[in-house]
This record gives sequence, structure tokens and C-alpha cells, in this order.
Amino acid sequence: MQKPKQIRSKGGGGSGQAPENTCVDCGRPFQIAAKEIDRFKEKKIPLPTRCRVCRRSKLIENKLKRLTKVIFQIYALLKAKDEPKLQKKSKERKQTPKGAGK
Ligand SMILES: [Zn+2]
Repeated sequence: MQKPKQIRSKGGGGSGQAPENTCVDCGRPFQIAAKEIDRFKEKKIPLPTRCRVCRRSKLIENKLKRLTKVIFQIYALLKAKDEPKLQKKSKERKQTPKGAGK
């Protein structure tokens, strides 16, 4: 015997518990758990636009970016210590991460 499935038809209320979203990164549909939605609403953060996988990779990416920034700062400090005379005047220049020759 099969149990009758209780499926509430959509319509009217619009109290969607798990709305389907499309990931802006990989384009796959994903769902946000009701618990997560509550958490986001509590913090007044807009719901994520990425699926879990992309969100995680984004998180790691951000962490790596921060880390490389720190490493570059330390590297610059060490370099400045090594060549104090050469670095003195160019100290005020802003560091451009792109296309630094050599
Ligand atoms: Zn994705």
C-alpha cells in the first residue's frame, strides 16, 4: 500500500520554505535550507546567490587573497630591510600588484 503524499500546491501564500535559486557562478539550481534562510533573515543579509560549492570556493578565494596580501606586506618589509637605501624614496608609492616587472 502506498501512503498518500501530501503535497501542498503552490499558490497564494508565497511562504516558500526552500525557494529554488540559480547559482550565479555555475548556473546550477540550488536550494537554501530553511534554517539557513532564518539565519540570513536574522542577520539581515541577502540570501546567497551561489550554491554551496561556489560559496565555499569563494570563501577560500577571499581567504587566500587576504593571506597573499599579508605575505606581500611581510615580503615588502623584509625587502625594505634588506635594501634600505634603495627602498627609501619609493616607499610612498602605492603598490600595484599587476604587472610589476621582475
Ligand atoms: Zn555554483
